[in-house]
Amino acid sequence: MPGFELFGDKERKEVNDVLDSGVLMRYGFDGMRNGHWKAKELEQTLEEKLQVKHAQLVSSGTAAVTIALAAAGIGAGDEVIMPTFTFVASFEAIMMLGAIPVLVDIDDTLTLDPKAVEAAITPKTKAIMPVHMCGSMADMGALIKICKEHDLILLEDSSQATGATYKGKPLGSIGDLGCLSLDFVKIITAGEGGAVLTNNPKYALHADRFSDHGHDHKGNDRGAETHPFLGYNFRISELHAAVGLAQLKRLDEFVAIQKKNYNMLREALSRIPEITFRTVPEGGEESYSFLSFFLPDIETARKASAALKDHGVDACFHYYDNNWHYIRKWEHLKELKTLYPIPAEVKEGLKYLQTKTFEQSDSYIGRNISCLIKLSWTEEEVKERANKMRNVITSVLTKS
Ligand SMILES: *Cc1c(COP(=O)(O)O)cnc(C)c1O
Repeated sequence: MPGFELFGDKERKEVNDVLDSGVLMRYGFDGMRNGHWKAKELEQTLEEKLQVKHAQLVSSGTAAVTIALAAAGIGAGDEVIMPTFTFVASFEAIMMLGAIPVLVDIDDTLTLDPKAVEAAITPKTKAIMPVHMCGSMADMGALIKICKEHDLILLEDSSQATGATYKGKPLGSIGDLGCLSLDFVKIITAGEGGAVLTNNPKYALHADRFSDHGHDHKGNDRGAETHPFLGYNFRISELHAAVGLAQLKRLDEFVAIQKKNYNMLREALSRIPEITFRTVPEGGEESYSFLSFFLPDIETARKASAALKDHGVDACFHYYDNNWHYIRKWEHLKELKTLYPIPAEVKEGLKYLQTKTFEQSDSYIGRNISCLIKLSWTEEEVKERANKMRNVITSVLTKS
């Protein structure tokens, strides 16, 4: 990760197909487009590769989560359970619909702790949203069971784990709905873009219409289409879809490169007895886009992260101190800093954030370092990095 590291001729060819006809819009203009339907083709390829009946491409991963929630009928006052460690997009999407984000602890998978999920269920809970952070997954077996028992919707955010599988099934294809991001730093990039995945034909139809002003997409005269319900514009352009199409065809190649690099780094770090690795649920196969490990305590992790940076080992994140991915720094959510008034029900529903603490999440995220695995490294570079990481972390541990 990210796919842009290997951007080249294949991407250029797909984009040129679109430029040759000049039809940048994914719908209509049938006669002008020389048979090029990049968004449709990318949707079909996603359906095949990710083993899902319906893929709806949209303008971003954040839009995908918003649309997935809307497609399932989640809105005002509904509670959606999400993890404390994620990307801000998770609560943005929930808030957009007037629903209430209920944040719960993560465990040593670095994703939703099923026990914390179960404890957070109330009569208002409508959905559980695992976010498969850093290339690996939540315990989907446990979450499926909870959703069945409580009749809840399971919505996977697989933006950071495209290419990973659980019990042989691609992440994003397991829940009632799945979401992907194709933004510039994801494993498969379209520049900007996202996708909603589902096997449910009703949700698929909702996503198709909601992402394009409610258009029914019947026939090829847009002006004559009806609007069965309110929608918005979350469309992807043909140019973005063209890039995504070339990239998706390379997904297996990208995952294989990541796995090789990941294994070399992991082997080096596993010789340090104080280091433990994130737990991958049984039956899980990572996308290997990050190598995530734990140090004995928060201070050591903080020092190790700083030392790695000082020694030129880039892209190793100590998310505990990060502004985007962990609840500790989400002041704008805790203090409800919005540009516009928000519903009283949502305000009330978010009051818990003023006082609630998340010791279990703090303990895991505080001790965690997650290193991005790049696609463009040479074997020499990975070896050098592995040695550096081992030496730097050993030296920090000796001093502490
Ligand atoms: C990137 C990301 C998103 C949002 O995707 P955008 O395409 O940037 O809107 C959502 N969730 C997670 C976990 C992400 O990493």
